[in-house]
Amino acid sequence: MIRKIEHLGIAVKNMEESIAMYETLLGTTCYKKEIVESEFVRTAFFQVGDSKIELLEATDPSSPIAKFLDKKGSGFHHVAFDVEDIETELKRLKKAGFQLIHESPKDGADNKRIAFLHPKSTDGLLVELCQEK
Ligand code: ZN
Repeated sequence: MIRKIEHLGIAVKNMEESIAMYETLLGTTCYKKEIVESEFVRTAFFQVGDSKIELLEATDPSSPIAKFLDKKGSGFHHVAFDVEDIETELKRLKKAGFQLIHESPKDGADNKRIAFLHPKSTDGLLVELCQEK
């Protein structure tokens, strides 16, 4: 079951500048910074009510975020839905015809197990499923 929008992912070119801008925009401070080695990304999180904003910066030119920034520039990157049981959701969505980027969950930032759906099967929206560990 999908329970809520857990966070919105925003690709940024300069993490420190973007953190400063979002701190002013949201009127709150970044509560966590974390590097996800497997994805070559640096992340920063802001709490916004029940949801969060996740900033993503590439740590390497081979990072999916670097490729995204090259193609589209900085801005909205993905929506993440909080799910009760990520394996069950992946099975349900695969059966329903969605294309999975990750067939099984992997470790993501912010103490989550995550998996992405391919935007080809979601009207162009990059969707992340995440489950609190
Ligand atoms: Zn995310």
